[in-house]
Amino acid sequence: MSEKDVLLSCEGVTRRFGGLVALDDLNLDVNQGDIMGLLGPNGSGKTTFFNVLTGIYDFSDGRALLDGEDITWHSAQAVYRAGIARTFQRSRMCLSLSLLDNILVGDHKRLNLGLGFNLFRRSAFARDFEQNFEQARDLVKVFSPALADCMFDAVSGFPMLDRRRIEICRALISQPKLLLLDEPSAGMTHEETHQLMDDILSVREHTPELAIIIIEHEMSVMERITEHCTVLNFGKKICEGSYEEIVHNPQVREAYLGIE
Ligand code: ADP
Ligand code: MG
Repeated sequence: MSEKDVLLSCEGVTRRFGGLVALDDLNLDVNQGDIMGLLGPNGSGKTTFFNVLTGIYDFSDGRALLDGEDITWHSAQAVYRAGIARTFQRSRMCLSLSLLDNILVGDHKRLNLGLGFNLFRRSAFARDFEQNFEQARDLVKVFSPALADCMFDAVSGFPMLDRRRIEICRALISQPKLLLLDEPSAGMTHEETHQLMDDILSVREHTPELAIIIIEHEMSVMERITEHCTVLNFGKKICEGSYEEIVHNPQVREAYLGIE
């Protein structure tokens, strides 16, 4: 079996907020095509890691390479163009807009927003739209064929599970190399959570080279979908390994599960 290529490589990533060290010298690699679980108690630095990686916050120290490209000082836009897309811990949808519009706003890398283009080159605009529509629908189909028949319906009418699916499609429309999911199951029932995890596994089947980092509290999800897990506590990595390895680690049990 050939070794998988490292897609994301983080060295000494540190983020301070005044006196608080939210991320402390974090080293972490993610291989192409892997799903990595990021765990840790509330306030342990998980979301901060996503925010630093995606250029929302600056690095206080350390660096990150994506597919060999140094993205440490990239703006949020440049990180996105380099191939990292994300969803947010709190849902961010334009509820009055259609499913299609909500997905296409995610594609600011490719959308042609020039007024001249859209006003005067109507046939090119129509062709562009047709292509974007087909691509968005194919993506939605991976999650739910029924949803792919509702591309022009307002998102406000969809249940939480479908909204989460749409948010993930919005991140995937840019064809990223790395997808960051911040607590995608927040606010969903156990059933819905498991359905969404099935969806994520189908996405992986569909795009085997895509790597995913998922922050998730539900341990059964971590067990089911991850190849590797990294556990943070007070911004520091306290353990990494397979799900089996991390759940049996005494430090993790103490910090995260409150056992022992
Ligand atoms: P998690 O996602 O693991 O629950 P966070 O990354 O959101 O944790 O937060 C880690 C720590 O950093 C917390 O103590 C939090 O209060 C702090 N923090 C996060 N963002 C900011 C910010 N913008 N300003 C100040 N402190 C912050
Ligand atoms: Mg968080």
